[in-house]
Amino acid sequence: MVNRRNLRKKILAFSRNAKINIHPNSPYLCPMLLKTTKPNVRSFDKDELREFFKERGEKAFRADQVYQWVWQKHAKSFEQMTNLPKDLRAFLEEHFLITELHTSDCQRSADGTVKSVFSLTDGKTIEGVLIPTPKRMTACISSQAGCSLDCKFCATARLKMMRNLHADEIYDQVVAIKNQAEEFYGKPLTNIVLMGMGEPLLNYKNVAAAIEHIHSPEGLNMAYKRITLSTSGIAKMIHKLGDDEVKFKLALSLHAADNEKRSKIMSINDTNPLEDLAAALKHYYAKTGNAVTYEYIVFKDFNDTVQDARNLARFCKHIPSKVNIIEYNPIEDGEFEQTTEERLNAFVQVLEREGIVAKVRRSRGKDIDAACGQLAGKKS
Ligand code: SAH
Repeated sequence: MVNRRNLRKKILAFSRNAKINIHPNSPYLCPMLLKTTKPNVRSFDKDELREFFKERGEKAFRADQVYQWVWQKHAKSFEQMTNLPKDLRAFLEEHFLITELHTSDCQRSADGTVKSVFSLTDGKTIEGVLIPTPKRMTACISSQAGCSLDCKFCATARLKMMRNLHADEIYDQVVAIKNQAEEFYGKPLTNIVLMGMGEPLLNYKNVAAAIEHIHSPEGLNMAYKRITLSTSGIAKMIHKLGDDEVKFKLALSLHAADNEKRSKIMSINDTNPLEDLAAALKHYYAKTGNAVTYEYIVFKDFNDTVQDARNLARFCKHIPSKVNIIEYNPIEDGEFEQTTEERLNAFVQVLEREGIVAKVRRSRGKDIDAACGQLAGKKS
């Protein structure tokens, strides 16, 4: 068995002598890449841990203690688990890994928004944002490293898809941002939105597991209604959310309510056209009773006419819903522009006349590339 700590020290000493700059979070120093065969302790659910303990002649309640340490008390090592006998801690250390999310960069916007870059154990990076308002402290978190979709207006789409995040990596972003809310603002975290990097419904198993831990009293104890998952619109998976009778909230990035226009900016619409989305949403609503929020960026001269607003209103009538009009956040070499105030007002008026609840959301954290669609590993 490789002694990883010594090996890490050796690599760092070697790199210093050879004047090679190795970042402390470098994949070269990552235990996973040192071919450890140890599994991540948080990849097991409680029953699996209990089974593991029983098989080794330990009491099952020890598994509950370990579970509580890793999910509720955010333990970073087995050494910290002081209510476990010392030899058991050594045994666990020998058999399991505890992963840690490192905050490798943290920038604060003039409006108070905090953007963090998190490094994962394999050296990949993701981003998460704390959005403070007088009433709320919201964590915007990522579900994938990179993204496989190619929405024309989104900076994350320019990155390649690297991998799905594990449930513990999604959960740890919330823990880190919760700590920031307490440290910087002295306030508890109130809301969580899965609107960072990635498409959460293409990593549903891990996202759902993370949400369960965020909700659980044995985790962060957050009410489901404070958690929102935003999707580009994967009809089959929206149907599954209905089957699973999920209790968290759903937002759908619509941005155009006719197939031709939507396909131009979101190629996911080619395989998930509006009719399929409407059918899936009806099933979702029938099973959950939850309304949906549509996100709509009003692009100048693209989807900002009175007819576009009427199309949107018609789509909104499939199930109870509301609309968040999102300000467009410019991205590098982007081909779009935010519409004018005048056209925006006319657009919103049509929706109101049709009885649709619509709110215009101003973006936060634009100066540090922390706003919607700007997360792309760029430093401002
Ligand atoms: N893949 C998911 C979640 C990530 S995007 C989804 O598509 O919903 C989160 C939100 O940011 C979506 O509504 C997305 O459409 C929006 N967004 C992306 N790029 C943007 C930009 N440049 N300006 C404003 N909002 C943007």
